[in-house]
Amino acid sequence: MLNRRDLFKVSVGALTFAQRELAAQEKIARAVRGLPSPKIKDVSVIATAPAGLRLVVVKITTDQDGLYGYGCGTFTQRADLVVPAVEKYLKPFLIGKPVDRIEDIWNANYNSSYWRNGPVLNNAISGVDQALWDIKGRQANMPVYQLLGGKVREAADCYGHSDGADFAQTIESAKKWIEQGFRFVRVQVGVPGMAGYGSRRGEAQVKALHSGPVFEPGVYIRRALKLFEESRKALGDDIELLHDVHERVAPIQAVQFAKDAEKFKLFFLEDALSPEDIAYFRMIRQQCATQLAMGELFNSPHEWRPLITERLIDFIRIHVSQCGGLSPARKIIAFAEQFGVRSAWHGPGDVSPIGHMAQITLDVTAPNFGVQEYSPFNERTQEVFQGCPVMKEGYWYVNEAPGWGIEVDEKAAAKYPFGFGENGERKTLNGGWGEIRRKDGTIIKQ
Ligand SMILES: [Mg+2]
Repeated sequence: MLNRRDLFKVSVGALTFAQRELAAQEKIARAVRGLPSPKIKDVSVIATAPAGLRLVVVKITTDQDGLYGYGCGTFTQRADLVVPAVEKYLKPFLIGKPVDRIEDIWNANYNSSYWRNGPVLNNAISGVDQALWDIKGRQANMPVYQLLGGKVREAADCYGHSDGADFAQTIESAKKWIEQGFRFVRVQVGVPGMAGYGSRRGEAQVKALHSGPVFEPGVYIRRALKLFEESRKALGDDIELLHDVHERVAPIQAVQFAKDAEKFKLFFLEDALSPEDIAYFRMIRQQCATQLAMGELFNSPHEWRPLITERLIDFIRIHVSQCGGLSPARKIIAFAEQFGVRSAWHGPGDVSPIGHMAQITLDVTAPNFGVQEYSPFNERTQEVFQGCPVMKEGYWYVNEAPGWGIEVDEKAAAKYPFGFGENGERKTLNGGWGEIRRKDGTIIKQ
C-alpha cells in the first residue's frame, strides 16, 4: 500500500516525466520544423533620391520585436508608380503572412495581379522578396550569401564607366579607373552635337528638322569603332574594354557593328539589339565571336530563355528588381550556368545599395559570374544607407553583417525626397526620360 507521501512522490515524478516528455517533443518539433515563423505586420515604402535618382525601398516589419528587412524595388523612370503598387495592393495581401515562406509569397504576389511581368509590379514584388531575404538572414544571424550556399569567390570584379566628349577625355577617364585598380572599363564617347549614350555631348550643334536631342546611328557606330582603336592603343591589350550600344541602332547595323568590333576583342558589347529585335542575335552569332551582353530591359522569362538555351549571348544583364528580385534572379543564373552563360547584373546608380547588395550576393555565390557594373555611392547615399558594400581596387565586397547588412536611416532618407537634385526635363517629367530623335524627327529607342 502506498501512503500519502509515496503517492505524492509518484505524482510529482509523473508530472515531471510528462513535462520532460513535452519539452523533448517540443525540441524535436523545433529541430524538424524550425521556430514558429514571425508574421508580416507592416509593409511600407521608403522613397528617396540622395544622389538625384529616385530609389524605391520596401520595408517589411514583423510581429517580432526588432525584426524587419529591406528590399529594392527601383524603377527610376516610373518610381512613383511602384509606391502605390506596394502600399495599395501588396501590403493588404501580405499582412499576417509568415515571413519564412519567401518562395510561396513570391508566387502568390506574382499571380495575384492576374496580368503580370510588367516593370512596375515586378519591382514591387522585388522589394518584398528582397526584404524577406534580409529578414531570413537577420533571423539566421548570417549574411544572405551564406543562405545561398556560401561564397565561390572573395569579391565581385567590377567595371567603371569611362566617358568623354572626345577620345582623349574618354581615355583619360579610363586611366583614372585603372589607377584605382580596375581591370575592366566601359568606354563611351560623345558624338559632336549629338545625344550619345553614357557620354558628354560637347558644345557643337547639328542641323535637324526639330530642336530636341539628335542621334544618328551610323555616325555613332563609326565613332565608337574609332574609340575602340584609340582605347586599345592607349590602354594596351590587358585591359578589358566594354561598350554599351543601348539598343540605339537598327538591327542590321548592330550585326555589322559586332562584326567590325570583333578585332578589338571587347569583353562585351552590350545591348546591341533591343528586346523587340532579339531574333537578330542569331545573325550576329553566325557571323562573329564578339562577346555579347544583353538584358537590362528584360522583365519576363519569355524574353531571355531562348537567348540562353541557344547560347546566343555570353552575359545575362538583367536589372535584378525588374525581374522580380533575388528569388527569380538566382534561378536565372543557375539556369544560365547550364549553358555557359555568365552574369553581368545591371548595376547603375538607379539601383539602391540594397539592390546592389542583392546582386553582389549573386556575384559571389554563382560559379558563372562574369563581371559587375559599378556605380559609386555618394556621401548622401551612404548617410541614408549605412553599411553599403565596399569597393577596393576594382573589387566590390559584400557586407558581412546579417541579412543585407544595411540599415536605412529613414530620417536621412526623408531629407532627399523624389525630385531632389533634379532639374530641367527630368524634373518636369517626374524623374522620367525625355525623347531623342534622328535628324528627320524619327524617334529612336533609348
Ligand atoms: Mg546598359
